[in-house]
Amino acid sequence: MAKLRNGASIKFEESEDYFTGSWRKEIPVVLKREVLDANPDVAIFCPEAAIIYKDGKFSHIDYRYCKGCGICAQHLKDAIIMKKA
Ligand code: SF4
Repeated sequence: MAKLRNGASIKFEESEDYFTGSWRKEIPVVLKREVLDANPDVAIFCPEAAIIYKDGKFSHIDYRYCKGCGICAQHLKDAIIMKKA
């Protein structure tokens, strides 16, 4: 076992280093971008902050981090569906 000295630091990874997209069994598919444009609050519900907006408009889902939980599809049922990954 390694001994820690006073003032030692332990290397840790940032949350951005964990690509939670590898957990995914299902993938969200955006059917109606205009609905996401009008409902940017959907990004707040995403636990991985994977729904990206730019200049007030929906840009994309960052599939490196989207873990396929389906919360976005529940929130905007007519605009996002879940498919098998
Ligand atoms: S499925 Fe879950 S993690 Fe993926 S974009 Fe939707 S809310 Fe975010």
